[in-house]
Amino acid sequence: MAEIMTLEHPRWLEFQNRVFEACDFREQIPGMPDSLVWTCNHRADKPLARAILEKMGNIDIEATLKYLGDNGIPCDHEIVFIGLKIIKSGSHIEVFGIS
Ligand SMILES: [Zn+2]
Repeated sequence: MAEIMTLEHPRWLEFQNRVFEACDFREQIPGMPDSLVWTCNHRADKPLARAILEKMGNIDIEATLKYLGDNGIPCDHEIVFIGLKIIKSGSHIEVFGIS
């Protein structure tokens, strides 16, 4: 039976990392953390997450997208920020999970 990708799912961090990569976070001006940009259409259908969930397999995609929406995650890039803090330091950006 297909599973719902929740924050408690054992592959959540893998999913989140793949969304992070798909959003292509980058500094428009190298070395300027305030110039951080990313790719996201800010739409509830979450095309990046959907494509990743399809590749991961055995995931109930519609139920997962509903779960994300019900938990206040409106679009792809917000998935990256859930439960994370982003440390912006000098020339690079590091993302750490909060344990
Ligand atoms: Zn977005």
